Amino acid sequence: MPENNADNSTGTPRPPGGRPDFRKYEQRYLEWGKAHPEFIYAAAPDSVDGGFNRPPPDRDSNPPDERPPARPHGQNPPPPEMMKTMQEMQTGMRRAWEDIEPYYDNPEIQPFEPKPNLWEDLLKFVADNWDDVNIGFTELPRQMIFRDKFTLFKYALVVSQEMKKDKINLAPGTEAGQEVMRVYSSLGLVVNDIARWLRQQGERCQSNHPMGGLVNTPSLGGKAGMGWQGRSGILITPQYGPRVRLAPVFIEHQVFDFTDNRNHDWIEKHCAGCGICARECPGQAIYSEKRINIDGVPGIGALRTCIDRGKCMGPFSQTQGCSVCIKVCPFSQGDGTYARLKTAVENKTG
Ligand code: SF4
Ligand code: SF4
Repeated sequence: MPENNADNSTGTPRPPGGRPDFRKYEQRYLEWGKAHPEFIYAAAPDSVDGGFNRPPPDRDSNPPDERPPARPHGQNPPPPEMMKTMQEMQTGMRRAWEDIEPYYDNPEIQPFEPKPNLWEDLLKFVADNWDDVNIGFTELPRQMIFRDKFTLFKYALVVSQEMKKDKINLAPGTEAGQEVMRVYSSLGLVVNDIARWLRQQGERCQSNHPMGGLVNTPSLGGKAGMGWQGRSGILITPQYGPRVRLAPVFIEHQVFDFTDNRNHDWIEKHCAGCGICARECPGQAIYSEKRINIDGVPGIGALRTCIDRGKCMGPFSQTQGCSVCIKVCPFSQGDGTYARLKTAVENKTG
């Protein structure tokens, strides 16, 4: 391959006149993993679809993923502001793939001695840079990796970022959709920045853009004790309810104490008596009963399917992100709602 047609460090094919498209990096990652199964952390044999793949039409038994479905051709083209966000998103995705390329040539586990108080330092780094980001740390169960996918490392920092209430309250519509896309893009940059900070501390890691998910992030966030999945399948957090997007950074060593807990599983009891999201969903996409895909998953018990993604696809595409299920959820109100609803559930159940 001529030198001016290749990435300097890796030989990644470069299209004439520009840097490689993020899909080329993604393709290289998948091919590298296939060629080096001894170095990857692969999905379990019973893992379900998601991530890069849209669900095949004959399979609706998958958990909801974080990826918006395709927009039908020619229908409601996104406004220019959203196009800009989408370009930023592609830059973030490409950066995430670019940053891990050096690992392909050096895949053996590397020694790392974390300095004391690394978690506190990370919390400070996060607080200094973002006022709407929260983190948790856990071990990634293989069942949460989407079918046929893999990560490079088995520990996961889970990162959430808020979608603003005033924008989501306008759902369904362009402004709410722009907020959804803004946070997809912003969170992609956040996980890239956190990963780069960790590498500066000497630890190897892999950021995963929320738009190119390799794992089921709502379940992973639940395992990390950051909230619990509500009836709509979205992680309900104490800070912002379901008004969050999630993305992980996979880490080589267990550098922090796990934040795992089940403090928020009472949310399921509240959902059992609520069901507003299912009633208000314009696509009638939210199942009345969650369907269990895989049972016995460490930390959370079961992986469940909550929505029919095929039915969600229409409203999602027509309104640039729908988000009605997020808007109508009582937990989205924030400001003490979590504590108030928890007390109500405790009083009811004794
Ligand atoms: S309310 Fe909208 S985004 Fe939520 S499940 Fe229904 S169609 Fe999908
Ligand atoms: S709207 Fe009600 S049922 Fe749906 S996720 Fe929120 S609390 Fe649960």
